[in-house]
Amino acid sequence: MEGCLFCEIAEKKRPAEVVFETDEVVIFKDANPKARVHLLVVPKKHIASVKDATDGDRALFGGLILAARDAAARENLAGYKLLFNVGRDGGQVIDHVHLHLIAS
Ligand SMILES: [Zn+2]
Repeated sequence: MEGCLFCEIAEKKRPAEVVFETDEVVIFKDANPKARVHLLVVPKKHIASVKDATDGDRALFGGLILAARDAAARENLAGYKLLFNVGRDGGQVIDHVHLHLIAS
């Protein structure tokens, strides 16, 4: 989507520290990490927010969680948090769905 930061990262139009990528998902380091490990798991398809997802996006969301699991395994994380912020009141800053993978 034009002007979307995460679409631009997914399309390699903007740099990011990418750690893992599939046809559907790109995972990169949060530019402002809140913990020792703070990755963003981002679908390449533009969806503004979890609340904007459709029933057709069920597999995409399952894929996000399993991609996060795979990235955590690569980082040898024994435990971690997976977090969606939804809407401004839920702490969402970028209007493109992303799953935070956080480990201290
Ligand atoms: Zn986007």
